Amino acid sequence: MSLGAGSVSGQSEWAKRVGSVSGQSEWAKRAGSVSGQSEWAKRVGSVSGKSFENKVIGFRRALHRVPELDFELPRTRAFLLSVLEPLGCEIRDLGKAGFTAYFAAASGGAAAKKTIAFRSDMDAIPIREPAGCAFRSEHEGAMHACGHDGHMGMLLGLAAWIAGHPGEAGANALLVFQAAEETTGGAKLICDTGVLRDYGVSRIYGIHLWPGYPENTVVCRPGAFMAGTFVINVIAEGRAAHIAEYQKGADALEAGCLFVLRAYELEKALPASVFRLIRFGEFQSGSASNIVADRARITGAIRAYDDETFDYFKTGLEKIMRGIETETGVKLRYEKSEGYPAVVNPPALYEETRKTLAGAGFSWFELKSPILQAEDFSYYQREAPGLFMHLGTGEGARLHSPEYTLDESVLMTGVGLMRALLIGGK
Ligand SMILES: [Zn+2]
Ligand SMILES: [Zn+2]
Repeated sequence: MSLGAGSVSGQSEWAKRVGSVSGQSEWAKRAGSVSGQSEWAKRVGSVSGKSFENKVIGFRRALHRVPELDFELPRTRAFLLSVLEPLGCEIRDLGKAGFTAYFAAASGGAAAKKTIAFRSDMDAIPIREPAGCAFRSEHEGAMHACGHDGHMGMLLGLAAWIAGHPGEAGANALLVFQAAEETTGGAKLICDTGVLRDYGVSRIYGIHLWPGYPENTVVCRPGAFMAGTFVINVIAEGRAAHIAEYQKGADALEAGCLFVLRAYELEKALPASVFRLIRFGEFQSGSASNIVADRARITGAIRAYDDETFDYFKTGLEKIMRGIETETGVKLRYEKSEGYPAVVNPPALYEETRKTLAGAGFSWFELKSPILQAEDFSYYQREAPGLFMHLGTGEGARLHSPEYTLDESVLMTGVGLMRALLIGGK
């Protein structure tokens, strides 16, 4: 999950959603009626046992100690490979984008004709981990505060399970370890290598651990699930003058203020049923209290789930800028970064996965509306049918917060559900 996570929705929002859909006690009933944790714990126990769980937790802790950023992940990769290489899988190095580990289905037959991919991101975020964690970050200024250490730990757990249970997987498995989810979209580079096509991937799954959702519950949605996003950078160029003679200048600060307020009005004019966001978080302008500002720079984000809404903002913002130019004489232009496309879950794959996992005893919750955070998993969905899911980790600090911690008991649920999907493909 990337780009300003938590600031948009966060836990109270989730509480509201759950409340509006069903109410807490109702929720508790649902979760209980599907499986309940003790039931699930029994199943996982029967599959693998406590020592296996400790191994998965150990993977996660080892990775938690060595958080690395963006594409620079030498220690992370070295650790992952040290676990994977002895398991007899085929490793393919994809350069700075990451690497894959491929396990051919040992049972042969139909299973060998199908490949299911599972993706984990590998990068951490640039914040300082506070003291207190027994396996605290050894890299000052970097922390696994988005749970990617947990994602990698779960994928290593799946790898260990596959290697230890030859013939049980219902398909070949391609494990994708990806860099730079938090920054520029390593997923796109992975896709550009053609690796999914080379291995004939027929579907790809991604899981993100997510605090604020009930523990051990898969939270998902068919169709639009996570927002498409890009950052916009607005530049206003006016003309300086003494404020006593401000009419002789062209006030970039004033033009910037008008732009922000009108952009917000533009957003409000959309019907409530259209999921979207436009918000600015940074505004720099002026040099002295008595000089008309000749320049302003405003930075913000636009998020939406479909091209029509992005086009609406594009056309609307252009119109607003031209209007302000006429009124104030200040020139306005904007640049936008290439952001991530929206995560959109194919309804058929959603339904099939829901049935498989609910049948295997996992709690499943369907969100009524998409969320405004972004994810580069969307690039995989353009290559092959792909489903992105959140796995609830219960109450606790939000993602990207220095206080973030992970309830490690959820890791085995993650391994278990990937295993169920791999077996379900038989
Ligand atoms: Zn993140
Ligand atoms: Zn993340």
